[in-house]
This record gives sequence, structure tokens and C-alpha cells, in this order.
Amino acid sequence: MSKYWSKLAARLEPYVPGEQPKDKKYIKLNTNENPYPPSTNVLEAIKAAADERLKLYPDPNGDELKSILADYFGLKKEQIFLGNGSDEVLAFSFMAFFDAQHPILFPDITYSFYPVYANLFKIDYELIPLKDDFTLPVDQFFKSNGGIIFPNPNAPTGDCVTLEAIEEVLLHNKEHVVIIDEAYIDFGGESAQKLIDQYPNLLVVQTLSKSRSLAGLRVGFALGHKDLIEGLNRIKNSINSYTLDRLALAGAIEAVKDDEYFQSTRNKVIQTREKVTLELRKLGFKVITSKANFVFISHPLIQAADLFMSLKKESILVRYFQQPRIDNYLRVSIGSDAEMDSFLHVIHKIISSGFPHQ
Ligand code: PMP
Repeated sequence: MSKYWSKLAARLEPYVPGEQPKDKKYIKLNTNENPYPPSTNVLEAIKAAADERLKLYPDPNGDELKSILADYFGLKKEQIFLGNGSDEVLAFSFMAFFDAQHPILFPDITYSFYPVYANLFKIDYELIPLKDDFTLPVDQFFKSNGGIIFPNPNAPTGDCVTLEAIEEVLLHNKEHVVIIDEAYIDFGGESAQKLIDQYPNLLVVQTLSKSRSLAGLRVGFALGHKDLIEGLNRIKNSINSYTLDRLALAGAIEAVKDDEYFQSTRNKVIQTREKVTLELRKLGFKVITSKANFVFISHPLIQAADLFMSLKKESILVRYFQQPRIDNYLRVSIGSDAEMDSFLHVIHKIISSGFPHQ
């Protein structure tokens, strides 16, 4: 606390990102990064762009990347918004579409940035409790609201709803914007972008951070009706015209173009996830069926907080949330086969050591 802070800075409760430790080498399964490197085309394009042109500002509209994404999704360029990671796109969306007076809806167990944005922008919200099995109670979103946001697949559970369920939500909500945060959609879900032309209040947000191995480049985007995109541009151009730098634009273009590499790496992650799910269930874990690049797990005999610490001692980092309803769960990102073999090996060791020892 400092006397120099604005009232706004003083009242915030910022989001806490997963650890990026530097003390030793960990198997990092805590921030849902992709274990595979970006496409070599991406790396080459970034290197080629690192020249004297960096003295010039980048294209504030990211026209070339928008064209590539428009082709990829079968949309028009005017239906695409680009941002510095999907976190920025989400923050701008809260500002562009939600108002203080009318509470928005999102699940009680979900991406923990949503309440942070809501508090920052003074937007009221109502939490919709997930069912006991952590699935989304779709019909609870049929009530009056000032907007809706949820991830699909949800985070940190990995549970995914069908396109039909999303359409049900849209059919019951025509007055306000419905945001589907598809950070993890490429790992097995069906994107709601197919519904964009039918529902002018649908905004689909995606990222290159997960399925395209580019968490470090910070590129996210939104797809929606051109009027929604214009709303987002109004916010962006009132804060920072150049949210994507030259290197990010150059790399992102190649990432979207290299579909073959994207398909092969996301399929590898999916295969590994299925294998790990099976192995963990054999070890007695409850594993929520996941369509994301992580699994959400709980063991009947070992407290999640203890398991988190035991894994950390063995240089394996996973994510633990000390929050109601999920404080006995761990979220484990899907790494390479070798990383997950090490993880399973250590888990096996911990379990067979007769845990919990007091
Ligand atoms: N949405 C969800 C549900 C996430 O888990 C994340 C990753 N923390 C993001 C959005 C943001 O990802 P990025 O800013 O890297 O695009």
C-alpha cells in the first residue's frame, strides 16, 4: 500500500499467475503451456522480422494476420479482433460489452481472471454454481443478466459443453453479449465460431498460447459480428493502438498457416491426455473428463495440498487452487509423453510410500 496509489489501484485484487520459478529445473505442468515448441516456420519468421524495421511501429490493425485468420475460419476480416494474448481481449471485452448496473453471469468455478476484471471495471456479477460433477448447468444461464462469459472447455475443470448447449444459451440470451472463452477448444471441443453468423451477440475468444505453443508471444483474438469487433476496437484505440508488435504479428501469421504442425502437436497432446487419464484412474484418482490440455484430479486418500508439495519436492510443478469446492483438486497440464511418464512415476512412488504420513 502506498499513499501515491489511486483509489482504483488500492482497491484491486489482482490475478495471480501460475509460478514461473527460476530456482531449479522443474517439469512444468502448472500453467497449461504446450510441451512442444512452436512451428519452425514461426521461429524463422520472427528471426527474419528482427531487423531494422523494428524502428517502425507495427501495423495497428494487424491486417495480414486478420486476413489469414479470416481465411482459416471462413469469416470476414471485419469479424476479427486481435489482442496481446486473449487475456487482453477478455479485458477489453468486459469494458466494451458489460455495464455496472446489470450483473453478468459466470460459473463459480472458472477462470479466475473474470472476477478480477469485473472488480477492476466495477461490473456486478452473479456466480452460477457448477453441478456437483463440475458440469455446467446450462439452464441456469436462461435468467435475466447483463452478459455471460464462460470458458469452453472450462478451466480448471476441463469439462466441455456441446455446441447445442451453447446455442441453447444464445437462444435464451439475445439482449446482451455472450462470450465463449475458447482458450482450450483445439484439444477436443467444437468451436462456437460456427454460430457467429446467426448470433450477432456471440463473441468467441481464442489464443495462440496453448494449441499453437506460443504462450510467450502473446497473441489472442476474438471472432464475432463486425459491430462487436468495432466495439472492441473503440476500447483498444482508447488505450493502446499497437497491442501486437512486429515480431508477434510475423510469428502469428506463420503459426496459423502451418496447419499440419498444429494438427500433429494438438493430436499428440490429446493422445497423452487420454493415456494419463487412464493411468491416473487406475491409481485411484478421480479425473474429470477433459477436453483441454490439462486434467483436474483428486485422490480419495491424499490431500491435494500435500500432493502438490510432495510433487514440488520432486521438481514437478502442478497448480493448486485454495478455493471453496476445489481445494482438494490439482490441475495438471499435459506435458510430453516423457514428462508425463516422470509425473506418473513420482505419483506412483508417493502413493506406494503409504501416504499420508503424519
Ligand atoms: N482463458 C482461459 C480460460 C485461460 O486459462 C487462459 C490462460 N491463463 C487465458 C484465457 C489467457 O491466455 P492468453 O492470455 O495466454 O491468451
